[in-house]
Amino acid sequence: MSKKGRVFSGARPTGRQHLGNYLGAIKNYVALQEDYDCVYCIVDVHALTTVETTENLKQNTMEMALDWLAAGIRPEESILFVQSQVPQVMELHTYLSMVTQLGKLTDLPTFKEKVRQQPDNVNYGLLGYPVLMTADIVLYKTDIVPVGIDQAPHIEFAREIVRSFNFRYNTKVLIEPQVKHTEVPKVLGIDGKEKMSKSLNNHIELAATPEETKKRVLEMVTDPARIKRSDPGNPDVCNVFTMHKIFSPQSDVDMVNVECRRAGIGCVECKTLYARNLNKHLEPFRAKRAELASQPDLVSDVLNDGAKRARAIADKTMAEVREAMQLP
Ligand code: ADP
Repeated sequence: MSKKGRVFSGARPTGRQHLGNYLGAIKNYVALQEDYDCVYCIVDVHALTTVETTENLKQNTMEMALDWLAAGIRPEESILFVQSQVPQVMELHTYLSMVTQLGKLTDLPTFKEKVRQQPDNVNYGLLGYPVLMTADIVLYKTDIVPVGIDQAPHIEFAREIVRSFNFRYNTKVLIEPQVKHTEVPKVLGIDGKEKMSKSLNNHIELAATPEETKKRVLEMVTDPARIKRSDPGNPDVCNVFTMHKIFSPQSDVDMVNVECRRAGIGCVECKTLYARNLNKHLEPFRAKRAELASQPDLVSDVLNDGAKRARAIADKTMAEVREAMQLP
């Protein structure tokens, strides 16, 4: 390994990515390529814990891969692959499950939330979700895991499993991963309240058209205390202002900061300006995405090649794991 170490991250194939995914995770996926060997995975096996049909899985995987590639993941140097194409992870998952206490899994807030969300499908895989996630991470001897803040407890959990495994088998073969967040580890949705998420339908897709983007931006909730156009607003509590600070030129940020406070600019005007700046920012991404989408075999080739490279690393780790466990 020529770089500083290895980065791994994965996400379920939920289809087109949104601003939350981009600002919370993908931005780091791209940036970390400078200094690390990066492995990025579309975790379709994890998706099976929540979806009851696989009919959209392939399409969603492709859409997501397109977004990641268009955002700047470079398949010549980084590995981009689909989880189920590296079955070694299922074997490691089984071994790790033996050093994971059941009570800890049932106590995890993420598991409890899933039970609330899908009471009729509390499957075994759902409980083992963080163990499979740990297997994904440690299979690649990962040093750093870039994820949004919602995933931080899972990385902490992964560290515990690694410690248990290494202690049980008196080995150092597995590495404790470190979590890495972006400057915006929790992006709010257009409701200005909840985390941006596809399932809450409060998201803005990176690949949306400029018109769709503007429509969504105009739906954004602003400072709730500002009822009338003539009321002064408070940008410090307004999600639109937070987004201006990320996507708008400094002159616009300064203008909004002053004019909103003295009701010199209305919310519609402010959001229209943000939509324009956001669309401008996403222009190169959208152009690249369209270009990639016009070459249907390209993404498949990237994913197949990525899986081949991922399997080579996985085989090596599994040989070490089996040896540490004194398995034949
Ligand atoms: P998964 O549940 O498979 O991780 P998500 O689409 O929920 O899929 O998340 C993918 C990545 O994007 C994760 O690293 C997650 O932490 C990050 N992410 C998702 N939504 C947000 C958000 N609103 N703000 C910041 N990061 C987010």
